[in-house]
Amino acid sequence: MEHKGVTVWFTGLSGAGKTTISKQVAEELRSLGYKLEVLDGDIVRTNLTKGLGFSKEDRDENIRRIGFVSHLLTRNGVIVIVSAISPYRNIRQEVRDRVGNFIEIYVNAPLAVCEERDVKGLYKRARAGEIKQFTGIDDPYEPPLNPEIECRTDKEELAESVKKVLDGLKKLDYLA
Ligand code: ADP
Repeated sequence: MEHKGVTVWFTGLSGAGKTTISKQVAEELRSLGYKLEVLDGDIVRTNLTKGLGFSKEDRDENIRRIGFVSHLLTRNGVIVIVSAISPYRNIRQEVRDRVGNFIEIYVNAPLAVCEERDVKGLYKRARAGEIKQFTGIDDPYEPPLNPEIECRTDKEELAESVKKVLDGLKKLDYLA
């Protein structure tokens, strides 16, 4: 199916629900026949941006590279689904400006909720001082000021969050 490319960018704290929602969105779009690619922050860091750390400089470089690939795919008509903490506002804006067709999804749950979920056990380790520069604990997160979509995963069911994203894509004319 030929369609307009777009980068669907999920940002939020670790454990907020980026991977869970984006996987479901990808599945739905795939079943509808859309051409898509998923760039998950955790996976990207094991190849495309392997070796980068968590200083502001390295985090920005990580996002810049993901943004570069997103741009290439988007201009070729692919729906690119990115799931990355991407804590800094400026670099998200830079990627938005470069990509053009860009939708920002703020996956929002309070830190206390993310920490309680502790999906990967990382908050516990960060609190114990075993991991440094952990977003939300001893590293900043700058929430989007004007995201196209916000998912409040502490208040919504997964299906509701997924529907919000798909409805948003439709409304913004990215789906047939
Ligand atoms: P992230 O990718 O942002 O680090 P994950 O998707 O790995 O976060 O983990 C989010 C956790 O929150 C999962 O265990 C998921 O089941 C749970 N969760 C609860 N409600 C929601 C919701 N509405 N949307 C997404 N995840 C949710």
